[in-house]
Amino acid sequence: MTIPQAQRQCIDLHCHSTASDGALPPRELVARAAEQGVTHLALTDHDTLAGVDEARLAAADHGLSLINGIELSCVWHKQTIHVVGLDMRDEDVAFAGHVAQQQQNRWQRASAIADKLIRHVTDCGPDILEQATAHAGGEVPGRPHFAQALVAQGAVKDNNQAFRRYLGTGKPGDVKAFWPELEEVVQWITAAGGIAVLAHPRKYKLTATRLRKLVTDFMEAGGTAIEVITSGQSSGDTGFLAELCRRHSLLASQGSDFHFPGASWCELGRIPALPEGLTPVWEHFRSPVGR
Ligand code: MN
Ligand code: MN
Ligand code: MN
Repeated sequence: MTIPQAQRQCIDLHCHSTASDGALPPRELVARAAEQGVTHLALTDHDTLAGVDEARLAAADHGLSLINGIELSCVWHKQTIHVVGLDMRDEDVAFAGHVAQQQQNRWQRASAIADKLIRHVTDCGPDILEQATAHAGGEVPGRPHFAQALVAQGAVKDNNQAFRRYLGTGKPGDVKAFWPELEEVVQWITAAGGIAVLAHPRKYKLTATRLRKLVTDFMEAGGTAIEVITSGQSSGDTGFLAELCRRHSLLASQGSDFHFPGASWCELGRIPALPEGLTPVWEHFRSPVGR
């Protein structure tokens, strides 16, 4: 469906559904985006494409353009970094294989956490992984789900105690994720015809010097875009990122990083406009979105 010329474009290239850690199923997410006036949406669930088919069907119903998307976890100098992939080809076999490996990595980590808890927590049942998975709605459980399972088993009195004793930083259940290097995920995305976007660069709490280093490493790996606009970011941070973008001739992306309704500071499509003088990433999609 084409969008009438008069209608303002509203572009949101970062959000989550129940296929990862979002609250809305893909169909409801797309309906909400349409209600909010979003015209172009990328569903970027963490390390999975599981929601994309449902989102695409819903997008067709609502006359909204859906851009292929994902948010991949990786490491850069021991720091977990998120890279959003946009506009990859449909059903690229190699890319799907890499994404499946990311899911495997998540399950391996979950089972390593379960092993540690069984060994270190006196009242932890042998079925802790199954229980945590149930708390995660059948998806790969993270530490919060293990905390809930420990509470349910009566091994701790609440989530806080679970983290303080067993799951918090430096405790037995604090198992680091097994993510690939930044370079690798950037290459997966570009090999699938997509554009790699450094997600929410100010969220990593890096010094300006280190962030500049991250950006140059990202570019060396083949990354061409950074997310200049994300929800809840100060105008100072936006200005800093815009400057970084101009200096390196990077493409600029924008997205709400919406996870659930009810947060007034984060709604689908409710994001400030890109600062002047930047090249929007969507002008470089395989089917470019005009101004
Ligand atoms: Mn998330
Ligand atoms: Mn992220
Ligand atoms: Mn995100």
